[in-house]
Amino acid sequence: MTRTAVTNATIVTVDSHDTVLENGTIVITDNTITELLSSGDTPSTSVDHTIDADGGIVMPGLINTHTHLAMTPFRGFADDVDLQEFLNKLFPAEASIMSERHVRVGARAGFLEALLSGTTAALDMYWHYEASADEAKQAGFRLQNGPIFIGSDGPDRIPFDRRLSEALTTTPHDWVMAHGTYTMDPAQLSKVGELAQQSGARFHIHAAENAGEVADVNSRFGRTPVQLLDDHGLLRDGTVLAHAVVLTDEEIDRIASTQTAVAHCPSSNMKLASGFCRVPELLAAGVTVGLGTDGPSSSNDLDMFTAMRVAALVHKGHRLDPTTLPASTILRMATMGSARALGIDQLVGSIEVGKRADLVRLDASSPSLVPSYDPMSSIVYSASRADVVDVWIDGMQVVNGRTCTTIDSSETLRELRLEAIAISG
Ligand SMILES: [Zn+2]
Repeated sequence: MTRTAVTNATIVTVDSHDTVLENGTIVITDNTITELLSSGDTPSTSVDHTIDADGGIVMPGLINTHTHLAMTPFRGFADDVDLQEFLNKLFPAEASIMSERHVRVGARAGFLEALLSGTTAALDMYWHYEASADEAKQAGFRLQNGPIFIGSDGPDRIPFDRRLSEALTTTPHDWVMAHGTYTMDPAQLSKVGELAQQSGARFHIHAAENAGEVADVNSRFGRTPVQLLDDHGLLRDGTVLAHAVVLTDEEIDRIASTQTAVAHCPSSNMKLASGFCRVPELLAAGVTVGLGTDGPSSSNDLDMFTAMRVAALVHKGHRLDPTTLPASTILRMATMGSARALGIDQLVGSIEVGKRADLVRLDASSPSLVPSYDPMSSIVYSASRADVVDVWIDGMQVVNGRTCTTIDSSETLRELRLEAIAISG
């Protein structure tokens, strides 16, 4: 049994009362938070290691609710275009290079970027998902993924029916994923829904990302993406809709009453000019909303601090109301909201005794974090990923003094550059 104490910390717990402990201590026993102390109290048991946070913020690990981590080789590949043009450029490029090895390199680079920026878990949608899962294990990253379906042959050149029969032989799955209602027909969607049902899997899909997608699906099937999902029993507890930007009032009510969750990806929505997700209405209706970056090809990074900042600012500007989505709401969205969407809120998402130690320590000497009248505001409006010093996942320190302990950074970036050369060549 190993005990580590992180002392002299400003602990932003994101518990149900948004408790902040000044001069606090967190005791980690193996992978679990076993003590939370305030005002310099000393742990009840002896510890093996002590880390002095020097008064700096310690917060729950950030949880990315929608991303495509292995797409790091496509960062900056198709900028300043809308979703449809983006996909027209991206899909053939992916098909030209797709392999399990390509996914391993991209995913490893994604984990490296995510870990160094304080992200400890993610819901990830991509091809060769088992390769990403294996890389995540080696990186110590808390990855959630599963088989992904699209109507046509994917970039891995596997036809829909073969992909389905393979997935049926490898059940159970934690997650079953579909690309979108605009990239498959309703019969295929129905089969994917049955697979998710049979294997007791959670379900993840892009839905209602922009007006063009909704109009396209409506003209082909006479239903909106959200209505189609409802028709197939796919609005339910355990489903996460990525984006959900273009929603009617009725659809918001339906998403709420079915306990469907939404992954809000503001940087991607702004960059692709998709529109403003109706986050305040979703939250008011009781919908679980998590925060995501989307892939590094559409939002160009895996930076959850930027995602928090953009989410906090963009809705205020759009609504002309500075009270929209305050800092505490945004931080909760990126931690507990995301954990709830992923179904892992009993394990992680807040700093509480009994939960797993997924923690981030920020640099107490960062000029952008001094002074700090409200640590939650500091995290959302002032901090950046450059302030992340240490990261723990499941009690293991995966970032130590801004260095990732589980991934060889220079070798990973060397391989990533070679992938980019192959794509552009
Ligand atoms: Zn996406």
